[in-house]
Amino acid sequence: MKYSEIFYTLQGEGQLVGVPSVFLRTSTCNLRCSWCDTAYTSWYPEDKNISVFEAFNEITTFGVKHVVITGGEPFIQREELTTLCKMLSAKGHHITIETNATVFVPVQANLISMSPKLSNSTPLDDKRWKEIHDRERLKPEIMRLFLDKYECQAKFVISDTQDIQEVQELAEQIPIPKETIILMPQGIEESDINTRQKWLVEVCKKTGYRYSPRLHLNIWGNKRGT
Ligand code: SF4
Repeated sequence: MKYSEIFYTLQGEGQLVGVPSVFLRTSTCNLRCSWCDTAYTSWYPEDKNISVFEAFNEITTFGVKHVVITGGEPFIQREELTTLCKMLSAKGHHITIETNATVFVPVQANLISMSPKLSNSTPLDDKRWKEIHDRERLKPEIMRLFLDKYECQAKFVISDTQDIQEVQELAEQIPIPKETIILMPQGIEESDINTRQKWLVEVCKKTGYRYSPRLHLNIWGNKRGT
């Protein structure tokens, strides 16, 4: 499978924030977010390969229960993801899959961490990808499938106050249960995150959505393998 890295760290986002976890970051993505903080898996994917068995062996070497499969977009490597999840599940691991929720494959997983992309993600400077990204970034029927079949959380990256209305409209349209919605500040610089988190916590208090820090950025900054 195409991958970029395997590393052991703390989960930095969402309902399992702070839980020691082994991450497998798959490579390649079907979207191109303007602010993608892993451009080495999307805009400029590295051409690294690992077999499912090698990935399984490397992940299990750490002896850690929680495994997070992230990307890129993990679900576009259907067969590999299916096999790997089956093997990890048989070993008793807790599996979280982080996805942009535009591709559905029935795999064995404990938590689907959906991160639907709002209009703030559209790459306005790239004509070709602007069109593809905007056409593909939201797939209500796929989100409904995940919500129907798995325990889910829905994480939204928030740039501006106007994004909140988009979240509310989408939550109503799908529908997404309020208690599974998590808002996170967009940004990779501490100053940007701090500025946004100040008003974002007030939004959470008002709407009842959950706030999530981006712990890995707070601790290590925007570094790979963290
Ligand atoms: S969906 Fe994720 S990996 Fe893909 S471009 Fe957007 S932020 Fe990057």
